[in-house]
Amino acid sequence: MSKETVLISGGAGFLGSHLCDWFIGHGFKVIAVDNVITGSLRNVAHLKANKDFKLMKQDVIKPFKVSGPVHYVCHFASPASPVDYMNHPLATMLVGSYGTHNLLELARAKKAVFLMASTSEIYGDPLVHPQVEGYWGNVNTIGPRSIYDEAKRYAEAATFAYKRAYKMDVKVVRIFNTYGPRMQIKDGRVVPNFIDQILNHRPLTIYGNGKQTRSFCYVDDLVDGITRLLLSKMTGPVNMGNPREFTILEFAELIRKKYNPKAKIIYQPLPQDDPKQRRPDISLARRELGWEPKVALEDGIGKTMKWFAENK
Ligand code: UDP
Repeated sequence: MSKETVLISGGAGFLGSHLCDWFIGHGFKVIAVDNVITGSLRNVAHLKANKDFKLMKQDVIKPFKVSGPVHYVCHFASPASPVDYMNHPLATMLVGSYGTHNLLELARAKKAVFLMASTSEIYGDPLVHPQVEGYWGNVNTIGPRSIYDEAKRYAEAATFAYKRAYKMDVKVVRIFNTYGPRMQIKDGRVVPNFIDQILNHRPLTIYGNGKQTRSFCYVDDLVDGITRLLLSKMTGPVNMGNPREFTILEFAELIRKKYNPKAKIIYQPLPQDDPKQRRPDISLARRELGWEPKVALEDGIGKTMKWFAENK
């Protein structure tokens, strides 16, 4: 039987590279497409010699061609951390708009299933808590985070427009804060920052008073959810994340207690429009996909810490 092919934009990124591993491990061919602005070739170096893996260095903002059959197109290309997307504002908006169109067109031409990696950021600074898929969000359209939030909202709209216009099989996953090996240590997010600070004996930086909340999902759990969605009959949008919610101060205390009780905490200004609370309602994914996260934060942070210590 010939193998099915999955094309993953952002395939050299944090989530994209873990998806490449999963599909190669489950008997698929993979085409990873990446311009490597925030991804890293190191993330897929171990797949280079695999005959079922192909890497295309390509910016998906520009139309591109792929030869041969493609059965699934997964659009994971985008700067994803607030620091990264604010450093690449136009690239972020363009990959969410032109990039999404180019990948939708590719999926249409190949008669492939299309999966859009959306985000909890489409809920903005949410007024409904926990966030359910039916909530339309609270985004400042001209704020500093809007480049990412609106690009992803647009990408969801484009995905559904193609579904309506061309009856395409599409899927949308809204990804909440996810962490694990292969994040960029300097991407500015709270997990790599705290790990970097612990490993280098520096104080933990808390932005604002630390009462804002987030819920952290280990990457293996997320990959399990995304691949279930892709291979299911479901369209979504569907939330995926870990529903265990922490204040950032609680999260810092958990890390400090486990790794260095003497580590200091310092407070720094809260970035503009930083969401005050975030926790996914995952009832839909539980019911439709039988999915829920399994990795406890303590274990996932341990694995991530070990990886960063070994891959400095
Ligand atoms: N944050 C923090 N210290 C850091 C980095 C981030 O207190 O060194 C806070 C940030 O203000 C936000 C939360 O941690 O409230 C999560 O930030 P992150 O950048 O990881 O992702 P976000 O959920 O905001 O996209």
